[in-house]
Amino acid sequence: KPLVFSGVQPTGNLHLGNYLGAIRKFVALQEHHDCIYCVVDLHALTAQLVHDDMPGQIRSITAAFLASGIDPKAHIVFNQSAVPQHAELAWIFNCVARIGWMNRMTQFKDKAGKDREQASLGLYAYPSLMAADILVYRATHVPVGEDQKQHLELTRDIAMKFNLDFMEHIRRTGLGTDITVGDEPVHAYFPMVEPLIDGPAPRVMSLKDGTKKMSKSDPSDLSRINLMDDAEAISKKIRKAKTDPDALPSETEGLKGRPEADNLVGIFAALSDRTKEDVLNEFGGQQFSVFKPALVELAVDVLSPVNGEMRRLMGDTAYIDSVLRDGGERARARAEKTMKEVRDIIGFVQ
Ligand code: ATP
Ligand code: MG
Repeated sequence: KPLVFSGVQPTGNLHLGNYLGAIRKFVALQEHHDCIYCVVDLHALTAQLVHDDMPGQIRSITAAFLASGIDPKAHIVFNQSAVPQHAELAWIFNCVARIGWMNRMTQFKDKAGKDREQASLGLYAYPSLMAADILVYRATHVPVGEDQKQHLELTRDIAMKFNLDFMEHIRRTGLGTDITVGDEPVHAYFPMVEPLIDGPAPRVMSLKDGTKKMSKSDPSDLSRINLMDDAEAISKKIRKAKTDPDALPSETEGLKGRPEADNLVGIFAALSDRTKEDVLNEFGGQQFSVFKPALVELAVDVLSPVNGEMRRLMGDTAYIDSVLRDGGERARARAEKTMKEVRDIIGFVQ
C-alpha cells in the first residue's frame, strides 16, 4: 500500500480550512493507503516559542483526528516530538537545502512579517523539518491544503539533491532503487513525494477577506469557522461573512473577481461533496440571503457530529495520551530504520 504522511500544528483552534484542506482527506485515504498522521508540535515552536497550554493543544488536534474518523489502530497517530529522528533528519536536510531555496518560501515571508531579522531561525528552516517529517518514513503521498504546495516542491528538491549528491554512497550501500525523474534515470534512496491537493476547496479563505487564507493564527475569530464552534456560532459567522451585493452567478466563470462568493460556493461544494458547477446549478440567480442559510444548515449538519465527539474525547485525556504513546512507539521504530540507513549512506560510524 502507498504510504501517506501528513501533519497539523497544535497552534490553536482547528478550522474549516484544516478540515476540508487536510483532515477530511486524511480520513478518506485510510481505505487504500498506509497512513501516518502527526501532530507537529516541533513546528509549533517556530512562530511562537512559549505556549500556555501546549498539552491541551496537542490533545485537541489528536481528538479532532479521532473524532473525524481516523483509526489509530489501523494507522499511526502520534506527536512529532516523540520521534527525535524527525529532528535528526531535519539537521541533515539543513545541510542539503540551500539558503537561496529557503529565501523563496512565501509562508516564511508571510509569517515573519516586517521585521524579518527578528523571526526565529526555526521559522526559516521550517520547510526542511517538514521534508524530514515526510521522508523519514519515505512516504510518497502527502495530503495538504494548497498553501503547502511550495513546501512540497522543496521536499522534492531536497530528496533529489540528497539522491544525486550521495548517489555513489547509495549504490555502495545497496539501499536505493532505480527511478526516473522526468527522463533522468536516478538511483534514489528518497522517493519523490506526490502532493494530494484537490477537491473544490483546496484553499479555504477567510470569511472576512476573500484574498487571505483562513488561518488558526488570524486574530479575528469571525474570520474562521472552528471545529469546536456550536450551531449558533457557525450561524453567526456565516451570516456576518463578507459578500458582495450581487446574486450568485449560474456558472463558475461568474465567480471570477468575486473572491468572497467564490469561497462560500467552494465551501458549500466541499461540505456537500459536490462540484461548484453543481452548486451554482442549484443556487445561480439567488441572493446571499437565500444561499447563506442553506450553507449554515449544511455546515452545522457536517460539523456537529465531529464537534460532539471531539468534546467527548477531550474529557478522556488518558485515552488520548495512550493513543499518542502507542503511535509514537510504532512511528519511532519505522523512523529509526530509515535513520540507520541514512547514517550508513552518509558514512557515520554507528
Ligand atoms: P497556522 O496559522 O498556525 O499556520 P494553519 O491554519 O495554517 O495554522 P496548519 O497546521 O499550518 O494550519 O496546517 C494544517 C493543514 O491544514 C495543512 O495541510 C494546510 O495545508 C491545511 N490548511 C491550513 N489552512 C488552510 C486553508 N485555509 N484552506 C485549506 N487548507 C488549509
Ligand atoms: Mg499553516
